[in-house]
Amino acid sequence: MQSAENPKKIIIAVDGFSSCGKSTFAKAIAARLGYIFIDTGAMYRAVTLYALDRGAISSGIVDEDAVTALLDELTIDFRFNPHRGASDIYVNGDLAENRIRTIEVSNCVSAVSAIPEVRRRLVAMQQRMGRRRGIVMDGRDIGTTVFPGAELKIFMTADPAVRAQRRYDELKAKGMEVSLSEIEENVRSRDHADMTRAVSPLRQADDAVVLDNSHMTVKEQMEWFTELFESRMAELQQ
Ligand code: C5P
Repeated sequence: MQSAENPKKIIIAVDGFSSCGKSTFAKAIAARLGYIFIDTGAMYRAVTLYALDRGAISSGIVDEDAVTALLDELTIDFRFNPHRGASDIYVNGDLAENRIRTIEVSNCVSAVSAIPEVRRRLVAMQQRMGRRRGIVMDGRDIGTTVFPGAELKIFMTADPAVRAQRRYDELKAKGMEVSLSEIEENVRSRDHADMTRAVSPLRQADDAVVLDNSHMTVKEQMEWFTELFESRMAELQQ
């Protein structure tokens, strides 16, 4: 399914469970290939942040109609930050990269991302971003819904205890006050909500290759990927 516009570059879909290092992995492979990395979780988090700010979520209860009504006034864009070597997300022109990672947003994002109109808009935006190909997109439904024809699909998983510890370390490093048990509960409940929602639930695409990185370093994951990428490109050229 290579496009005439950019025949050598492909679309790489990276899906999987919460906090198993999808973004770290996807960012690293995009940098290696000179592809654009797109973190779709950040987009669902951005909608959630805006809904919290605008009172469409109160005491953890998401008002679906109120969130849907906000979508017309919401713009999301990514701007490359050379210091991080990655793109930062902006909500209506304001930098939101750190604010979207709080536990408050994490606790509400699965409910917001289950709203059909939210998914419809963000999926359309993601498909537009992929038109020029040469992208690595990470999320939950990239290989199944956003780009079912992606040339390479990776489904990531890791032991839940390892995932919770990684998220905990990441938030602590950013100076956020969190407890490991709170993170464990959030990771568990998000996975459950993401797998059981009606619209594009988290599931492994039939043609995805599984990467369980519970006991792998980033370097080992990159070696694994290089081999996979080369063999997939050779297949595509046949
Ligand atoms: O990847 P991250 O953990 O930041 O994603 C946050 C949440 O956004 C997920 O738990 C899921 O509810 C939602 N999401 C989604 N579809 C995607 C990416 C993320 O529903 N493609």
